[in-house]
Amino acid sequence: MAEAPLPPGSVVGMLGDGQLGRMAALAAARLGYRVHVFGPTPDGPAHQVTNLSTVAAYDDAAALEAFAAAVDTVTLEFENVPAATAAFLAERRPVRPGPEVLHLCQNRLREKDFVTAAGIPTTRYAEVAGPDAVRRALRDLGAPAVLKTTEFGYDGKGQTVVRSETEAERAWATIAAHAPDPVGILEAFVDFRMEVSVVVARGLDGQLASYVPVENQHRAGILDQTIAPARIPQDTADRAEGYARRLAEALELVGVIAVEMFLDHEGRILVNELAPRPHNSGHWTIDACAASQFEQQIRAACGLPLGSTERHSDAVMKNLLGEEAQRWEEILAEPGARLHLYGKAEVKPGRKMGHITKLAPKRTGERG
Ligand code: AMP
Repeated sequence: MAEAPLPPGSVVGMLGDGQLGRMAALAAARLGYRVHVFGPTPDGPAHQVTNLSTVAAYDDAAALEAFAAAVDTVTLEFENVPAATAAFLAERRPVRPGPEVLHLCQNRLREKDFVTAAGIPTTRYAEVAGPDAVRRALRDLGAPAVLKTTEFGYDGKGQTVVRSETEAERAWATIAAHAPDPVGILEAFVDFRMEVSVVVARGLDGQLASYVPVENQHRAGILDQTIAPARIPQDTADRAEGYARRLAEALELVGVIAVEMFLDHEGRILVNELAPRPHNSGHWTIDACAASQFEQQIRAACGLPLGSTERHSDAVMKNLLGEEAQRWEEILAEPGARLHLYGKAEVKPGRKMGHITKLAPKRTGERG
């Protein structure tokens, strides 16, 4: 028998207190749910929008016990929740997505092995355990290549381009500075035409709902702008969406996943990374779609049917990084610019402070 959905008024536990948790809490509130935020940052963006919040470390057993008792279901806004924390909570409440999905997505090697096993193309890669292994793998994969830590990398941190064997020592030292005692993954460098991503939700009943592929432009390793939909041919878009849907199914995901991909000059799509949560490249869905990625996350966590991913407009989402958020007055004066600020008090260079979404009439037919 299908599990009954949690009714409005139920409490969704949110692991993580950043902007993704904040936007999910706002979506939950609209549907009549409460969100209890658990995270280590006093006054974190998500804590600010709910009166149910626990400020504690992820390994604080007493705080986790009380949190589990106070919520009906658990979801998360970042995947690097310690495995023990996810397992502890999963013994007490449904955790969606579950600990197995987190375990997989916490490690680039496991993730790429999984994508490959699902029959979906990814960048060529090799596990490397030191500079000698980097040199050996370079001979196989060719130069340049990208050396990354297998764990805890984000926004371009913990990775470096290796142009030749003579750079192996330097490259290894770079990732070792980021993660003590790292295991590395060396990836063939992809001379991509475009970076695209697809956000897909999967419900408790296995229902899938995907958004159109979008085009992501980075600056200094950080997402700068997302253009929705991506300016690519329809058959390429269909392939990208198909890969993301297959991965969500293969993971038996309950929740939302973003699949980041490279589109190369030959029209091939290579999966780069999975994020088992709403994603920065899906923020445009708040303003341009019937149901946003955050609403889908709440619906999946509560066992509700998923909403429509239909977009009523095309959109461009621009991140406000560091000082860019100081332009709020000017942005507010611009008709049609939809401003989202995350309530972060401290401005740091490259820090995601907010974003703007601008809508445009929906283009139809072949794109690209
Ligand atoms: P990641 O942390 O894997 O999302 O990588 C951050 C950014 O680095 C990506 O968005 C790409 O712009 C670039 N990058 C990562 N891996 C590769 C690769 N194998 N080839 C070329 N560029 C890459």
